[in-house]
Parts: sequence; structure tokens; C-alpha cells
Amino acid sequence: FNNAPKRVQNGGWARQVTQADFAISDTITGVNMRLTAGGIRELHWHQAAEWAVMTYGSCRVTVLDAAGRPYVADVNEGDLWYFPAGQLHSLQGLGPDGCEFVICFDDGDASEFNTLLLTDWFAHTPPEVLAKNFGVPAQTFAKIPLQNLWIFQGTLPGDLASDRTAVSKTGRVPPHPVIFRLGASAPAKESKSGDVRIADSNNFTVATRIAAALVTVRPGGLREMHWHPNADEWQYYIKGKARMTVFDTGPNAMTMDFNAGDIGYVKKNLGHYVENVGDTDLQFIGVFKAPRYQEISLSDWLTHTPAALVAQHLNIDEAIIAKWPDNGPGVMPHS
Ligand code: MN
Ligand code: MN
Repeated sequence: FNNAPKRVQNGGWARQVTQADFAISDTITGVNMRLTAGGIRELHWHQAAEWAVMTYGSCRVTVLDAAGRPYVADVNEGDLWYFPAGQLHSLQGLGPDGCEFVICFDDGDASEFNTLLLTDWFAHTPPEVLAKNFGVPAQTFAKIPLQNLWIFQGTLPGDLASDRTAVSKTGRVPPHPVIFRLGASAPAKESKSGDVRIADSNNFTVATRIAAALVTVRPGGLREMHWHPNADEWQYYIKGKARMTVFDTGPNAMTMDFNAGDIGYVKKNLGHYVENVGDTDLQFIGVFKAPRYQEISLSDWLTHTPAALVAQHLNIDEAIIAKWPDNGPGVMPHS
């Protein structure tokens, strides 16, 4: 992301990496956005589903679902949101210092700089139509902005309960929460070297088109050799120093180093592993355009295949193979 130009406005900034910049990434567009305290990403909607992870601070999100049910929530570091395609939403940085987050669209050609904006539609609708639509005089619309706002500095909202009360005119709320506290959720895999937390439509029911794995690897640890049978993996490195190797047919293998703010991409079914090569915790998030998270662990496969068969392939004693982890530990060493 550090090579992507920032679009800076009063209230915040954003930069994005689409398939135009990162050719391999045909399933996901990534957006890194910062909002000030009170900074508003204006009310808008778009063609793609929007998934995001908070990396700093606090943000208030509003959304209206397709059945007209409003939802307002505050999110903090480690939390996710998900807005189905076409559902209008807004984001606003809260105190004391706003927020930063990473958005993923389920389309490598989506653009955060080209969305359906409330202010654009108003400015491109005749005032007499606005008057008829809203049942008020045309003069009411004399001062609407003629250029879109996109991101702008606003005033801090009141407390969450007040906003929720203000929008709940019918008392109806969406049946599936649009936020999920991934960082605070129980790990799906855990060892002394790290853990893996999963959010997909199993536990984050609204997220039917994007699944994610938040991976923490302690110094010296290894995110075990594995692959994903159902989707490409789009990675965002949150903190620490990583070295990833991807194994492809050929045979071809490529090794790259990653630092905070970098993006990685692994095509579906290609084997890979990620080492923590720093002296602090490594954390990254893998995002998949799929309703469910799926992975196949190399050691899990080889310990659930007849040992004599594996031994003949690798010229390794069956007694040694018997010591390999057979529980898909996620991050090694496990003890
Ligand atoms: Mn959006
Ligand atoms: Mn992976």
C-alpha cells in the first residue's frame, strides 16, 4: 500500500490497490482508509460487497439492509464489518483520534474512488424532482453541495444508544449483525507459537461472499504449510516481519518478505507457508472471496494417509512420520 497514491481530503484519506495495480488480484480490491475524529466517509453504496478490518482507533458504521432495517454500531481495532452489495452505508471516525481500516471488495476491479454517492445523486437530480420526491419545497435544496463530498470533516456523533434510538422508528433490526469482533473471538487453531481466528458465514452470518483468517505468529513460529481449495488468498500484513513462500506447478516456488502495510496474494490451491522472521509478533489477515473458510494442512494430509505409503515417497521412517502433528496445528512449533 505504501506505493499507492493517497487521495487526501479534509476528514481523512484513502488509497487503494485494484487489479490495475496488482494484476494477480482478480478477486479482491483492497482499500486502506484513515478518518479523523469526526471525519465522515459519506453515505454511499456500490456494486460490490464490502468487508473490512479495523486496524486502529474507533469508527461508527451505519447501514440499511434490503428490508429497510437500520443498523448502527461502533467498531474498534480487530473488529470487522460487512455490507452486502447495494446496501447503503456510512463510516465516521470517533474520538480521540479517528480510525484506520482496510476494506476489501469482492471484485478486483471495484474502486473506492468511484462509488454511488448520496451527494452526487442529489446534485444530479432536478430540484423540482427532489421537491416531489421528499414532499417539501424545491427551495429546500438550494444549498446542497454541487460536488460530491466523499470524505469530509464532520462533528463527532453522540453516544451509540442515542443514534440507535434515532434510527429505530419501527424497532426492526437486521437479523444478522454487520459487525464481528474477530480479534476478540476464540481462536479456531491455537498453539504456543500463535493462533488462527476465522470469520466466515458460519459465525459471521451476514458475510456470505467474504471469509477471513486472522493469523498471529510468535517470533520463530511458522504458519504451517497449507493451501486453500476454494478461493485465492488476499493478505494484508498488519504488523511484524514475514517471509512467505508460495509453491506452484513447474515446479516453481517464490519467496518474498513482507512488512506492515504490504499485500500478498496466493492463488487457490497453491501451497504456501509464512515464517515470522522478526523479533516481534507477526500478524496478518487472509481474505477469501468465498462463503466459507477452507484450508488443507500438509501435515494433516500426510498423517491421515497410510504411513507406509508416505514413507515410500519421502524415504523417511514411518516412526518419524508418526511424530508429525496430526491435528492441523495452524502455527508451529505447537509445543
Ligand atoms: Mn463502501
Ligand atoms: Mn493461507
